[in-house]
Amino acid sequence: MPHDWRRQHAQAYTSAEKALAAVGRPVPAEETLRALTRSFAVRVPDYYRSLIAPDDPNDPIALQSLPDEAELLPLPSDIPDAVGDEAMSPVPGIVQKHGNRVILLVSNTCTMYCRFCFRRPVASGHAVDGLRDQLQQAFELIRQDTQLREVILSGGDPLTLDDRALEDVLHRLRAIPHLRLLRIHTRAPVTLPARVTPALVSVLRRHRPLHVVVHFNHPRELTPEARAGLHRLLDAGLPLLNQTVLLKGVNNSVDTLEALCYGLLEAGVTPYYLHHCDRTPGTGRFRTSIDEGLRLMQGLKARLPGHGLPRYVIDIPGGHGKINLESAAAQRLEDGSWQLTGLTGVSVHYTEPELAV
Ligand SMILES: *Cc1c(COP(=O)(O)O)cnc(C)c1O
Ligand code: SF4
Repeated sequence: MPHDWRRQHAQAYTSAEKALAAVGRPVPAEETLRALTRSFAVRVPDYYRSLIAPDDPNDPIALQSLPDEAELLPLPSDIPDAVGDEAMSPVPGIVQKHGNRVILLVSNTCTMYCRFCFRRPVASGHAVDGLRDQLQQAFELIRQDTQLREVILSGGDPLTLDDRALEDVLHRLRAIPHLRLLRIHTRAPVTLPARVTPALVSVLRRHRPLHVVVHFNHPRELTPEARAGLHRLLDAGLPLLNQTVLLKGVNNSVDTLEALCYGLLEAGVTPYYLHHCDRTPGTGRFRTSIDEGLRLMQGLKARLPGHGLPRYVIDIPGGHGKINLESAAAQRLEDGSWQLTGLTGVSVHYTEPELAV
């Protein structure tokens, strides 16, 4: 039943206890459960839960979706607002780090709450009260800034909006003459492929040129259901790109990343970014070193065609933007720390955190 996404979304596991019990995991004590949900809400669609191999304690699907006590342990390497989004928000709902493109936060919920998410504070699942007023201000800014060429809908996940609300946003953006491109960043095609209905696809098609950036992290997420959704989007003339977050235990191996990128290419999706994991509190268990990421990229270069190779990027703490870790913008210093030069030419001295092994 591809059309019942709303029911599937509503019936997702939002209780840590039930989600853990559903795959036979030990359930921690009541107060731990409460602390976990308080720090970052739990939401796992039953579809995504069904991809978990219950016998594997290190299952990559489970790691991404099930809460873990490790999230409660503060680490010295944590950075609140790790990528500087709060600092770079001129009006509520907008994040701007470039002159020609902005992120517009149209939703503060997701189809799943990924345990590694750096947008935890935004995507915390609170009610969307006030979102409309907030958007008025954001639209005003976009209308007045004639340097802008692209608006990227993000959140949360824009596809948690219903088709009419999404159409309304896209329609208003299309009426702004200086905008050339629209883009949607979404994980729904991965975590709730039923969301990619023919009706949704026809809304998106009417607002082309529109790029859809999806977020697959592991080849096992490329199920027949997910591929069918991708196929519908491609069929409607919507170019598809993928971003992956480099996650310890999930995809930090050349074999896994190779399988993921080939699977994406076969499905018509171009691997776009491999993000170095941010230092958001609660996500320490997923962090790898930059060196490890660079080694993985080296391995991938021998195995993938040029158009299948993602760019390995880091979002410089402090809001200086994303840079390619394999470019001159990232210089390793003698003591092993890094000099990272952001878009505005500001150089940041970056010391990697001590990682738990
Ligand atoms: C990542 C990001 C974008 C999009 O950047 P691209 O490199 O064009 O994908 C835009 N704005 C902000 C604030 C970002 O963090
Ligand atoms: S869908 Fe994206 S924004 Fe939402 S929790 Fe997952 S990674 Fe974060």
